[in-house]
Amino acid sequence: VNNHVSPIFNSDGKPESAVVVSVDVTRQKAVEKMKDDFIGVASHELKTPLTSIKAYTQLLKKSTTDDTPASFINKLSKQVDRLTNLVYLLLDTSNISGGHLMLQLGDIDLNELIDDCIQDLQPISIDHKLIFHKEKIPHLIADKNRINQVLTNLISNAVKYSPEGKAVHIKAIDVGYGVKVSVQDYGVGIAAEDQSKIFNRFFRVTNKGNDNISGIGLGLYIVSEIIKKHNGILGVESVPGQGATFFFEIPYQN
Ligand code: ADP
Repeated sequence: VNNHVSPIFNSDGKPESAVVVSVDVTRQKAVEKMKDDFIGVASHELKTPLTSIKAYTQLLKKSTTDDTPASFINKLSKQVDRLTNLVYLLLDTSNISGGHLMLQLGDIDLNELIDDCIQDLQPISIDHKLIFHKEKIPHLIADKNRINQVLTNLISNAVKYSPEGKAVHIKAIDVGYGVKVSVQDYGVGIAAEDQSKIFNRFFRVTNKGNDNISGIGLGLYIVSEIIKKHNGILGVESVPGQGATFFFEIPYQN
């Protein structure tokens, strides 16, 4: 049960009585657990047939004849990849929310990781300018794949939620005890009241600017769990209509 107590003051400013609101969160918790269980089971079950569809698509690609349009097979292959990514995202979410996020710590050259990440994102960011303001920073001890996932999520969101032709600025600076990375865009931005909610599972802002942008609201949840596990901090600053800057700080040693 969650209790919220608000005192009521008399005209002398002394507390006279109080209003207590009790919310029974048992049901809320049970529903959340059912959702988590469902996602866990469903994504696990979807993985097997998908893996086999993917294998057959690759076989088909190799054995294609002149009368099978290559574009059909490429389209099929692309959609299979999309579906596979979605299933892995759900599986990952289910593992993380079950408390199973394990870090594989190692020595990381963050500048190199950012360069690679920008390179990998070229196909989805041809209409934007990704600008990396590189500075000399010490190596850090962190999970390379997970930090790559954080960077990929933040940069692809910056691209996704800003108009074509706009720049995305990426910075990584030394802040003494660790490194601070920021990803700044000139897109739709995020209203103040939504800024704390966007890190919750399945939360998506609904406004005109976002109407036809697809997503399921899991990326930032995963980002925040990864940063938390690295003993770091994550935040956002935004002026709606002008853009958003996401930043995180993680210590050099974990
Ligand atoms: P998704 O993009 O799949 O919806 P995320 O968890 O990555 O999920 O983001 C949650 C929500 O936060 C998005 O739906 C969007 O409304 C908002 N958001 C995230 N990044 C940005 C950004 N760079 N600019 C504006 N809004 C953003």
